[in-house]
Amino acid sequence: MCPDKKIASVNEKEAQKRKASTDKSNAQNCHVCKKHITESVAITSEGKDYIWHFCDQKCYESYKNNKQKYDPK
Ligand SMILES: [Zn+2]
Repeated sequence: MCPDKKIASVNEKEAQKRKASTDKSNAQNCHVCKKHITESVAITSEGKDYIWHFCDQKCYESYKNNKQKYDPK
């Protein structure tokens, strides 16, 4: 039994755990101005296959007025 190998595999698992928790982070960027926002304050708009986040009502309004510009093709 090689003790070094055991340590390495534990560290790998730890790294994967950390990566997974980063992926689940609820931080978002405003779909219009790209400003960093948190989910708790975000205004969201649910499309068919996506949810957009907006930092405030103004960005949400400009999205609504320019949907073609902001929606994926
Ligand atoms: Zn914004």
